[in-house]
Amino acid sequence: MVVLGIETSCDETGAAVVDETGEIRGESLHSQKQVHVKAGGIIPPVAQRLHRENISRVVQEALDRSGVMARELAAVATTVKPGLALSLGVGLHFSLNFVRQYEKPFIPIHHMEAHALTVRMLQHVAFPFLVLLVSGGHSLLALARGIDDFLLLGQTLDEAPGDTLDKVARRLSLVKHPKCHGLSGGQAIEVLAKEGDRLRFGFKPPMGQHYDCNFSFAGIRNQVAMAIKKKEKQEGIEPGQLLSCVQDIAAAAQHTVASHIAKRTHRAVLFCRARGLLPQNNPTLVVSGGVASNEYIRETLRIVTDATDIQLLCPPAKFCTDNGVMIAWNGVERLKAEKGVVSHTQEVVYEPRAPLGRDISAEVR
Ligand code: ATP
Ligand code: FE
Ligand code: MG
Repeated sequence: MVVLGIETSCDETGAAVVDETGEIRGESLHSQKQVHVKAGGIIPPVAQRLHRENISRVVQEALDRSGVMARELAAVATTVKPGLALSLGVGLHFSLNFVRQYEKPFIPIHHMEAHALTVRMLQHVAFPFLVLLVSGGHSLLALARGIDDFLLLGQTLDEAPGDTLDKVARRLSLVKHPKCHGLSGGQAIEVLAKEGDRLRFGFKPPMGQHYDCNFSFAGIRNQVAMAIKKKEKQEGIEPGQLLSCVQDIAAAAQHTVASHIAKRTHRAVLFCRARGLLPQNNPTLVVSGGVASNEYIRETLRIVTDATDIQLLCPPAKFCTDNGVMIAWNGVERLKAEKGVVSHTQEVVYEPRAPLGRDISAEVR
């Protein structure tokens, strides 16, 4: 059984053919990152145009590389939520034409569910497990109880950590830094942080008194922005020209983001333990999303998982960021479980905003 997966929820046009064993038969990915980095952020109509220009080629490439004919596919799975409306629309429109042309079953996919389940393509991980998703657009903690059964423990109240790091990087003009050429904001911060003093500015992670598993990153960004402004003033230079202590700022920002993520995750582990929601045997925390490729953040999370005796699983970086593979795999999981094939494709719509699973407040008191 082979499934074609198509991803266009944000700024990556991805397609892949994956089989029921989790073998990737063929894949193709076109990233718009460089265009958006130059523009200083994603401009939705630009993302839409680039998806339109690339989707046919990307899907054809994935099929060609797999050696699988369109008529041999068991189904087509496509991200329909959440994401940028204009981007989601391109993938859905293309996919619906495709499944009509080849008379294939269609499986709509939740992007965050796909991030959460990717790990099961790589190794055996039984439900339930705890999952932390940290990316440019999301920050959430959930208990995965089944392929379509998630308990949302917490999410960000303002922005996502990748977004925060991208904004700090932009504020520091890191694209122009010789060591950061071609890197995303988060990657640039990670590279510079290696040479910096993470405790120099004394930034504080927020929400110490919040007895839940939500996140907030806007306050961290403000503390960092204030420190940058103060330094610029001291040195009498224009915004974005700071050179003297960018390593320290990067290290301190990364450290504060990491400790906030780790503290909220620690709460989630303790909460699930206390409620008997995690298995006694081999309890697992899965971490994914673009920010999960950050080694410092992974190591900070390891302190939490070591202290609480829980297994930490982080898929390799290429499976943490957006791609067609995770969508195809989610399609495989749903097909195997006989869940999610739609009977009337004309009723499928994309949903820019779509929470993952059931909210904790609706279920646990
Ligand atoms: P989403 O998946 O939520 O829709 P997205 O497409 O922005 O959002 P990803 O493609 O998963 O998310 O990840 C991109 C984000 O991850 C960017 O914000 C980037 O700065 C961040 N990122 C990538 N690598 C690193 C790293 N090594 N350290 C920190 N952040 C990183
Ligand atoms: Fe994503
Ligand atoms: Mg992306």
